[in-house]
Amino acid sequence: MLRRTFLLSSCAAALAGPATAQTCGYEICRSEAEWRAMLSENEFLVMREEDTEKPYTSPLNDETRDGLYHCRGCDLPLYASDAKFESGTGWPSFYESLPNAIGTKEDRRFIFQVRTEVHCRRCGSHLGHIFDDGPDPTGKRHCLNGLSLTFVPKA
Ligand SMILES: [Zn+2]
Repeated sequence: MLRRTFLLSSCAAALAGPATAQTCGYEICRSEAEWRAMLSENEFLVMREEDTEKPYTSPLNDETRDGLYHCRGCDLPLYASDAKFESGTGWPSFYESLPNAIGTKEDRRFIFQVRTEVHCRRCGSHLGHIFDDGPDPTGKRHCLNGLSLTFVPKA
């Protein structure tokens, strides 16, 4: 009887612990139902299905205050207002991210173009793409979906 109790409890511990993290490959993992519960339909499509919001729809396009742009999925600070620029594309654009904030992967959904997909390194939520036509000092343009971000003004 004692042994049986022990086995059951160690199983439960394993399920509740690191096994969850391994299922999604990120530090923060949520089930599809959990993501849907915390996001709007459009936020879910962009952040979890790598959809792209319509250009010129994000209020963050016109955000010019000092502050930080956080991941809507896990609140990790991702971009600083210092690195934001007006790209004319209709999407919030930055020339660099904060250190250790993002991850990238190849996106081959467009047949003739390999794009660099960018996501939150902590929860994996899709942010947008990185292009090589940005301004100095990096020459990069992080073209982001405003839906994936929240803005936190500097106090
Ligand atoms: Zn995140």
